[in-house]
Amino acid sequence: MRLYPTRGGDQILTFSEAVLSPSAPFGGLYAPIEIPKLGDLETLKELNYINLSKKILQLFGADLDVETINEALSAYDRFDNPSDPIPLARISDRIFVAELWHGPTRAFKDIALQPFGAILSNLAIKRNERYLILAATSGDTGPATLETFANRANTEVVCVFPEGGTSQTQKLQMITQTAANLKVIAIDGNFDDAQTALKNLLASKNFNDKIAAKGRKLSAANSVNFGRILFQIVYHVRAYLELLRRGVVRAGETIDVIVPSGNFGNALGAYYARKALLPIAKIIIASNDNNILSDLIVSGRYDLTRRKLIATCSPAMDILKSSNVERVLFDLFGAQRTRSLMEDLANNGAFELSAKELDLLQTIFEAAWSNESEVFDAISWRAKNGYIVDPHTAVCFKAARLGASRIKVVCSTAEWTKFAPSLVKAIDGVLVDDISALEAISARFNAPVSGAIASLFAKQPIAPAPIAPDKIEDEIAAWLNDRP
Ligand SMILES: *Cc1c(COP(=O)(O)O)cnc(C)c1O
Repeated sequence: MRLYPTRGGDQILTFSEAVLSPSAPFGGLYAPIEIPKLGDLETLKELNYINLSKKILQLFGADLDVETINEALSAYDRFDNPSDPIPLARISDRIFVAELWHGPTRAFKDIALQPFGAILSNLAIKRNERYLILAATSGDTGPATLETFANRANTEVVCVFPEGGTSQTQKLQMITQTAANLKVIAIDGNFDDAQTALKNLLASKNFNDKIAAKGRKLSAANSVNFGRILFQIVYHVRAYLELLRRGVVRAGETIDVIVPSGNFGNALGAYYARKALLPIAKIIIASNDNNILSDLIVSGRYDLTRRKLIATCSPAMDILKSSNVERVLFDLFGAQRTRSLMEDLANNGAFELSAKELDLLQTIFEAAWSNESEVFDAISWRAKNGYIVDPHTAVCFKAARLGASRIKVVCSTAEWTKFAPSLVKAIDGVLVDDISALEAISARFNAPVSGAIASLFAKQPIAPAPIAPDKIEDEIAAWLNDRP
């Protein structure tokens, strides 16, 4: 597999090289140009999840040895049902829900980050190198990254989260981690501030030199790292194959996929799956009040200038600077155009597609956004009909009305247990703490609370005092000084 820099430059990387050094020239990312075709879906239908993942890694030409792939995919043994790690729930004749959150940290980030941890650590060991891995989180990347890298050889993680920008449960997942190779930093600021600070550190020669002087190289665990994206193609394929297996769709019949989007990694996985000829008609992007992505798809304009980040009950989507849109622009319009659009965004806070470019984008994507009261209504209505969803998944249901009569697969990205107080607020209109909310919803809807979440509240958290984003560099340096 060859990965190209999205803003131009002649450095072309293999998959493993891009895992280790994800940031490309001029502030860009790495992305493939040639997307392989999946081939006969009837044959793929017979594969279990692990073998389907292997097949897709092989098709895309990931340069990993068999041992590393096997270890990476053994991560799915930690999912609720290893033989069906991503169950597909049917909630009506037309709407199916891909439950992407049955992994150890109860959000879909586990699907890619669990194998990613094994891959990065194995590559580091083979090269006799040590990696400092940066992760900015709006609540789910952080727990999943810490979980996958805890005590893994040749790796250390620095995870930065916005104070007040995650749910209490998500925060507990991070600040109760005890492994010595993990460092959690809270900042005064929002997710965009955290992600921008880390992107700048990744690209900073000065910081890279400083880290090198301490015997480490820098990498990142956010979906700027292409290493995550391959694993996010697999579950879209799997959901379709499952519909085929159940006879819900005929071979070749197109479906729509609804993706609650933030950094656009999940949607990008669907985009590559569609390009690999998975029969997806439309990828429907669902947004919360921070509807910059749905705006882009409807109007062709990506505009930060009249926006401030709004804190919602779906915090993983409280993002305005969405990284992976760039990979779609690169794929559709090429490196030169991508660089110029990204420069417009950096210099003027906005970019605008031409009418022709927008037409092309709209052949692939549709979009809808839900405000907070629509999200609460969706949670409450679904619960009354016997299906409990978290707020991110709830954002999708308005979008399910789009796209004609095709079968829809909703990507359910988190378990409700991470956002229990929001469910109680939606259903009963009252505010309660996390433990009471977990107990109330669990008892009322006979919904189990996974051990990973229940046990959090008995642990001793160590809450870091929030710091300013421009202090992150010093904080990391001081931590490394105390490390062996
Ligand atoms: C990360 C996340 C999202 C957004 O996914 P992207 O791939 O960043 O677009 C949506 N919902 C939940 C629960 C998440 O953790």
